[in-house]
This record gives sequence, C-alpha cells and structure tokens, in this order.
Amino acid sequence: AEQVDDGALAHLNPAQREAALTEARHNLILAGAGTGKTTTIVARIRHLIRNGTPPDRILAITFTRRAAAEIRSRVQGDAATASSTQGVAAMTFHGWAMREVRGAPDVFGYEGWSVLDQEDQQQVMRGVLGRGKRVEGLKAAQIVDVLSFAHNTRRTLADAIRVKFPDDAIDAKAIGAAVRAYEQRKQERRYLTYDDILRVFAARLADDAVAEWVGSHYDEILIDEMQDTNPLQWQIIDPLVPHTRFYCVGDDAQSIYGFRGADFASIHSFRDRVPGARVLKLEDNYRSTQEILDLSNWLLEQSPLGYDKKLRAVRGRGAKPELHSFETPADEAGFIAAEMLRARRDELPWATHLVLVRTNYSGRAIEARLVEYDIPYVFFGGVKLLESAHVRDVLSALRVVANPDDEVAWMRLLTLVPRVGDVTAARAFDSFLAARSGGASAREARASALAGMPAWLAAGLDAIEEAAKRVDDAVGRAAAMLQPVLAHKYRNENWEARARDLVHVERLAASRRSILEFLEEYILSPVFTSEMEPESQQDHVIVSTVHSAKGLERDWAFVAGASAGSYPSARSLGDLDEVEEERRVLYVALTRARDRLVVTRTVSHTPVRAWMGSAGMDVLEDAYFLNTLPERLVEEVPHVVARPSRPAPPPGLSAPAEVDLSIDLGDLE
Ligand code: ATP
Ligand code: MG
Repeated sequence: AEQVDDGALAHLNPAQREAALTEARHNLILAGAGTGKTTTIVARIRHLIRNGTPPDRILAITFTRRAAAEIRSRVQGDAATASSTQGVAAMTFHGWAMREVRGAPDVFGYEGWSVLDQEDQQQVMRGVLGRGKRVEGLKAAQIVDVLSFAHNTRRTLADAIRVKFPDDAIDAKAIGAAVRAYEQRKQERRYLTYDDILRVFAARLADDAVAEWVGSHYDEILIDEMQDTNPLQWQIIDPLVPHTRFYCVGDDAQSIYGFRGADFASIHSFRDRVPGARVLKLEDNYRSTQEILDLSNWLLEQSPLGYDKKLRAVRGRGAKPELHSFETPADEAGFIAAEMLRARRDELPWATHLVLVRTNYSGRAIEARLVEYDIPYVFFGGVKLLESAHVRDVLSALRVVANPDDEVAWMRLLTLVPRVGDVTAARAFDSFLAARSGGASAREARASALAGMPAWLAAGLDAIEEAAKRVDDAVGRAAAMLQPVLAHKYRNENWEARARDLVHVERLAASRRSILEFLEEYILSPVFTSEMEPESQQDHVIVSTVHSAKGLERDWAFVAGASAGSYPSARSLGDLDEVEEERRVLYVALTRARDRLVVTRTVSHTPVRAWMGSAGMDVLEDAYFLNTLPERLVEEVPHVVARPSRPAPPPGLSAPAEVDLSIDLGDLE
C-alpha cells in the first residue's frame, strides 16, 4: 500500500520523489552536485521506516564520520519522529567492516588484534627495513602507500609499483621482499591495517554462506558518494547483491579518490555489476545560483571525458563568481579573513563561510590569519585527534595493555621514560616477550621486564588494566601517569592545548566497550583536533581540504589557492587521468557555494613558481584550468599592485669616489 506522505517526502520534486519511493530491488541515483542526492537518501530512509522497515535493518554508508552523523540527525528529523527512527546505522565502509568483523569473531577470526593507523604502519615498515630505512629509492612511507594502493585497486604489488612510479628506477624485487617481511611482522604482532579490515571482511564474504548471513542483517544498504567506491569496497558489495537491496547515489564528476584506488568510470558499470539495477537521474540543482553553476558547467565542458551533465539552478540567478588575484598567499589569506569580518559587521554568522584549500599545508596561511583576526574556525582535514603526537603517547599506554604484543606502542611508551632510548626500550620489550612466552601473565611479565624502570610505569599499567572495563577511566589513568613526562616533552609546544586534547580523548572514550573498540572506532573514521576545540561548538567558519568537504555547502565559499600549478597541480601534469581528477577536485570545490563563490589565487609569488622556474611555469600556465576562462563567467578583481617602474637616473649621476662612513665622535675627539 502507498504510504501516507510525511514531511520528508513533501518537499521533494517529482524526480526525487520517484527516486525516494522506487520499488526496484537495486537502485543507482546518478546526479550532479547539489541536486539532492543526500536529501533523497534521507527521504528514502524515512520512507522505509514509515513503511515498516525496522531502523536497525537499514545501513547507510558514507565517506566520513561527519557525513554519517549528518544523515543520522536528518533521518531523525524533529522530536516527533526521533524515537521511531532511532537505530539506523550510518557509518563509513571501514566502520561497517569493523563492526561486522568484531561482532562475529567466530565467523571472521582476528579477536584481540590491534589496528594500525598510517603512522604506525610506517613505523613497522621502518622496523623491517632496518638501517637506511629505505629500499632503492623508496622510503617506508612510500612503500606503505603503494601497498595500500595495490590492496585498494586489487592489483599485484608489481603492477601497483609500475602504476605509481612509472618512470623511476625502482628495485621492485627488494620492495617485494620488504613487504613480505612487513606482512610477517604484522602477523607476529597481531596487527591489522585499515585495508586489512576491509580485506578480512571481503575475503570471508566470498563464502556465499557468510554473504547470505551478513546480507540477512539488512533490508537495504544505502551508499552515498558511490563514485568514490574502490575495487576493494566493490569486493564487499558484489557478494552481498543477491542477499540484500542496494540503494546507491553518486556523481561521476565528483570522483576525487583515484589516488586511493577509486575509478571514476566504475559507477558507469553499476548496471552490469548489479543485475536488474534501476538507474535514476536528478537534474535540478537546489544549492547554488545559476552563475555559480555556469562556471562549474564550463569547467566540465572543457574536459575531454565528456561528462553528460549540465547543472540547472532552481534558485535562479544571482551574483557572478568572483576571481581575485593577489601577489602573495599572505595577501590572499588577509583578504579572505577581511571579507569574513566585513560580513560579520553586516551580522552574518561565521557559519556563512567555507574556505576550501588543496592541502593541509596550504590551509596554514588561512588558519594563521583567522587566529590573528580572532575568527572562530574548525579545520576539516587537519590533524586527526588520535594521530597527534601527545595523544599517541597516551594511547600507547592503553595499547600495550589491550594488546601486549604491540611493539610499536611499547617502543613509544618506553622511550617516553626519561633516559630510556631505543636500545634500552627494545631490550625491555624483548624481555617482556620472553617472560610471556615462558608462561607469565601480562602483569608478571611487565613487572620483571620493567624492573629497571621507574616504578610508576609498571604500577600505572596495572592501574590501566584494572580500569580497562571503563575505557574513559583507563584513558584518564594513562594521561595521569604520563602527565609529568608529557608536560616536560611538550613544554615549548603548546602543552596547555595538548592537555585539553587529552580531556577530549577521555570524553570520546566514555561508553566504549573496550580499549580496542575505542581505538578502532576513531582510527578508522577519525575526528580532527580542531573539531574538538571548545569554539567549534559555537558558530564558526569551516576551513576544509576539498577532499574533506564532500557533501558540504555554505552561503559563501572561498576557493583559495586556485593558481596555476595548483589546478591542476604540477605533480599531475603529463597524466591525463590525474589531470582530470584535478579538474573534478576543482568542480567539487566550486559547487559548494550557495550564494557567493569567491575564487582566489596568487599570481607572482607562488611557491610553485619558485621551484619550477619560468619555463616550467609556462607549461603550468598552459595546463591551468582557469587559463581559458571566458570573461563573462566571472567578475575579475585584481589586487596586484603594479609597481611603477622607476625612471632611469639621468646621465652624469655617477657614484662619488666613496662615502665617508666614519662617525663624528663629537667632544670625544
Ligand atoms: P552533493 O553532490 O554536493 O553531495 P547532493 O546532491 O547530495 O549534493 P543535497 O546536499 O542533498 O545535494 O542538496 C543540496 C541542497 O539542496 C540542500 O541544501 C538541500 O536541502 C536542498 N534541496 C534538495 N532538494 C530540494 C528540494 N526538492 N527542495 C528544496 N531544497 C532542496
Ligand atoms: Mg550529497
């Protein structure tokens, strides 16, 4: 029977309604930015619940923890419907895989293994590389990256190396050997990487009985930002297709995770991969004015890939996008901050603004200005709370309790002790392992291995172990135990702010069931340190990398650093796929603005110019997306002061023989 209409459906347009109510078993909504894809997912979930699907049989997959929280809160809507919609699971792919794997150790195995984040992986890799810490041209971090790329694209290591480093002379055999040693070390130490979580899940789903069982948990799985799904994630979706329903939404022109293995064309093969899938389109953009969409459309039209989309603004016309050019990044950042202050005087809230930057690094100049002008902001894509050094220090104490084999954590913890270096730490860890394999309990083994260390260490670890059931309590004890050494270690590095972070970590840990669960949850879908700042609870500006801004919108968007050499980045030149991915990154950025789009760039003092030289700069200018921008699409505002060239001195003004530089000593003479 047709459902009674509810608030969630009432404001949808006919195409969105059709998409929200579709009765096909599998569906793909393929549509451009701001056309209401996420809105439709939310309406769909509410529709399913209204029609009797229990909320806990619905799973929504998003790309970030923030997007997941947003979907949960939009599904709950007002207080009237909140209780009936409680229990919808919205999480990231990793979060989901972890939930399944941890939830059924009998099916998946891997009980009590630790999850390594990227820095830990590099640490383990450095450990197996030994002295020199590199193999023929590749550093540990690069090997970890190429291995992850291989896993996510389901390539062999040899292929992945060829794709990532086509021109470099690389000893692939030596890298292969290093990777084998790394895998063995992970096995011994009971470590899983991010990728491993997905790989364990995918591998077990290949058994149809497992797929059927997992599929039976859900009536429907909804995936937002489908265009960024990579082959490893597809390996999880494929076997579940016969056993549950899929509802996926995406935009091929917003595929920006190629470096993590997503293939922007894979969404086009959806119908082949998911037999019987219905494909629906949405065409009207509700977010932006037509002028903003004209610029975005123009950018895609320039692409040789031929995107078949043209965004049309329901909201009608507005102001032209602005293109501001500055001499230096400092001028650019100063302008952005000044515009925000001006808006503030007109009583616009800080939340009017979104600043989009390419990289964490390029966000720093903006951040510095916001701090200087006292503008409250949150930086998405900055330092992840659980990956900042002082937090890792504290977590190392929890990790050695939760997984006594965790060598990376042991080494970190032990070397925090005054006067303990790598050698002493390694010796203590070895004697700990020896005691363990001799049958000692973790506690006894710690007591003997740490006998030569300050007594607070073994006592502190015992206290953490006793508190392990209350994870926030365990965090508190670890922080208290390490407080003196950390206060000293970070005495010149903003210790007060770091101490506040530790309080936040304690808060995050509350109500987690175990230390491992807590660590996994935040390692796999991180929160950023700046999201934890007290100001972020209030009205604030958002500064975000484009990659972390997916799905976001604000009244004003500043697309900063849109200079030659940044769009496309100098590094991508020569590779069509990479250049086109760069185009999509800019497209995502431009389509975040509702009313005012401000593109800013520097023209003379770009860092790229300094290292490319002028010949290289010509190449970058040629490739520059905004190079051929038609004047009618933007309002150009130069801020570059043309310095008047000074007249040459008239002839005859030659230097005098010498200027007398000695001082007149006065009455000291
Ligand atoms: P993106 O590709 O950036 O993720 P999207 O397709 O998910 O965008 P939404 O974020 O769902 O788009 O919607 C964009 C904006 O348009 C939101 O502010 C949303 O509230 C609004 N919107 C969507 N559909 C409608 C509608 N039918 N009527 C009014 N506003 C709408
Ligand atoms: Mg969206």
